[in-house]
Amino acid sequence: MGKIGIIGGSGLYKIEGITRVKEIAVDTPFGKPSGKFVLGNLEGREVVFVPRHDVGHRIPPSHINYRANIYAMKKLGVDRIISVTACGSLKEELKPLDFVVVDQFVDRTNYARDMSFFEEGIVAHIEFAHPVCAGLADLLYESAKSLNLRVHKGGTYINMEGPAFSTFAESNLYRSWGMDVIGMTNFAEAKLAREAEICYATLAAVTDYDCWHTQHASVTIEMIIQNLLKNIENAKKILYTAIKNLPEARACKCQEALEYAIVTDRKLIPLRIKKKLAPIIGKYVK
Ligand SMILES: [Zn+2]
Repeated sequence: MGKIGIIGGSGLYKIEGITRVKEIAVDTPFGKPSGKFVLGNLEGREVVFVPRHDVGHRIPPSHINYRANIYAMKKLGVDRIISVTACGSLKEELKPLDFVVVDQFVDRTNYARDMSFFEEGIVAHIEFAHPVCAGLADLLYESAKSLNLRVHKGGTYINMEGPAFSTFAESNLYRSWGMDVIGMTNFAEAKLAREAEICYATLAAVTDYDCWHTQHASVTIEMIIQNLLKNIENAKKILYTAIKNLPEARACKCQEALEYAIVTDRKLIPLRIKKKLAPIIGKYVK
């Protein structure tokens, strides 16, 4: 049975209730992860937690080492990742303090960040039509509903580069595309988790209406922070419920995402790449 990974977004730097805590630093061939990993037990399950911006929120979205974070999770034996993330809403009905269990992503980053484990020397094309694990996403949705929280099933998360928020024109452009929520981090994680055959789902908590909603233009930073704190309290409750009810074994296709994805002739894959990617590709490339 694999461990459950939790990646905490803005406001979520610590999870109360984790027992037998061990904090460890993990080094990876892709460099250093966001910070120390907290290993322990939560609701009777083994969990691994890392705040993506590090404790104290010191790493901006473009500079998070997404590859190191996911690689380290894989190395630590994580097979499912729940991502908790703050987001802006691009639709009237997705109100501040609501949760959206995202099921699609659109990438609007400028590739300042690395989003694949596969570089020169080895080519792999994973299927990514459905970028989140449906089973894990359903569980997050049902958990939020069982707590009587306002939660929406499915939604498209547009991943902007940041760190500045959108202009009014951009915000309206994304609305015209039918996007639901906007954030700066989850797309790269979802992609890397799939390459690493880890289930991944996003619990997005709405803090504000981005900038398109003119009636809400007067929302203050203070209100956004208050919403963020309330969201984090609720997100923790959802996490506890979801982790308690997570099936021990996986029944989804995430665990075989690489089976037919690696197209490079095995004989031509350099030994140094086999070693570097051993936790990711070791099952298929000896
Ligand atoms: Zn899955």
